[in-house]
Amino acid sequence: MPDMESVTSLTAESSPAILLAEDDPVTRMLMTRFLKKAGYEVDAVGDGAEALDKMTKRYYPILVTDWEMPGMDGVALCKAVRNMQLDGYVYALLLTARDAKEHIIAGLEAGADDYLVKPVHERELIARLNAGRRILALEHSLRAANQRNRILSITDALTGAYNRRYLMEQLPREVERCRRYAYPLSVIMFDIDHFKLINDEMGHAAGDDVLQQFVARVQRSIRSNSDWIARYGGEEFLMVLPETEFKAGMFVAEKIRSLIGGSTFVTRVGDTPVTASFGVAATGPSGPDLLLKVEGLIKAADLCLYQSKQQGRDRTTGIEIANSMAMLANG
Ligand code: GH3
Ligand code: MG
Ligand code: MG
Ligand code: MG
Repeated sequence: MPDMESVTSLTAESSPAILLAEDDPVTRMLMTRFLKKAGYEVDAVGDGAEALDKMTKRYYPILVTDWEMPGMDGVALCKAVRNMQLDGYVYALLLTARDAKEHIIAGLEAGADDYLVKPVHERELIARLNAGRRILALEHSLRAANQRNRILSITDALTGAYNRRYLMEQLPREVERCRRYAYPLSVIMFDIDHFKLINDEMGHAAGDDVLQQFVARVQRSIRSNSDWIARYGGEEFLMVLPETEFKAGMFVAEKIRSLIGGSTFVTRVGDTPVTASFGVAATGPSGPDLLLKVEGLIKAADLCLYQSKQQGRDRTTGIEIANSMAMLANG
């Protein structure tokens, strides 16, 4: 299920960690003291290469770096940081001994957000970092909003399952991954039985209640770290089970089927029994062969589902596609 929880953690940035790169030990010690006094968590290093190494290990929202250092200098460090894929924006403050315009322009062009001329004035340093934090806060909320939008764009609003757009984006990747590592893969297509009757007899709103509980029950019974479900159509869903072979896929479908049919669903206008029919399509144990397309896999599951409906509903039908040539031959 798409995870909104992780979004909120992005916005909670109380006192950002600072990475300080300064080759002069005395300045380094003084600066560390200033910054810690102002409530920052500080990691201090003596050159650019070390700073870069630290940056690869965790995310520092603020980088304070001296310009002139042996090896990789502050400008090269800023450039390198701007080319890294990090968890968020890094606000970079460059310390320089020279205040010539050309010099400062070069620093800002290399990716620094601001600069301070040495010797560093303690209160000015803290004031500039506070200004930097405003930018970081904006960037954090923008990023969180983007992430929220992304989640909304791949989620079905009624049930919280993934939507069809996500399915069509993600399933080809899962198939590809299973092909690459020679893992099996199962998909389960399932559909609520006579759902139209539930709507007709209890009303559309009660039908919505059933849909929500239906997905909630299914979600509870799957491996949440690898398996996922998408709403394929109105009351039709597709579950994707990577690294799951035919027998296990059938077992999961049967487990869900009995979970659905096992106890009545509660709606705003009363209880109702619900059953669903299932169609399982799985690749052979060594994964999807080259000919097998996502559409073929879905179609196979759909045909099995159709057969379950034909044979009286509330049942599971499955097919193992060990060789997709066979499937092509059978139409
Ligand atoms: P079968 O056992 O053959 O699947 O029969 P069925 O009645 O479930 O299937 P049918 O396709 O005839 O009807 C599906 C119904 O699902 C019709 C449609 O109005 C209803 N439906 C689709 N989406 C929603 C929804 O979001 N909420 C509600 N309440 N009903 C929906
Ligand atoms: Mg220096
Ligand atoms: Mg139905
Ligand atoms: Mg249907």
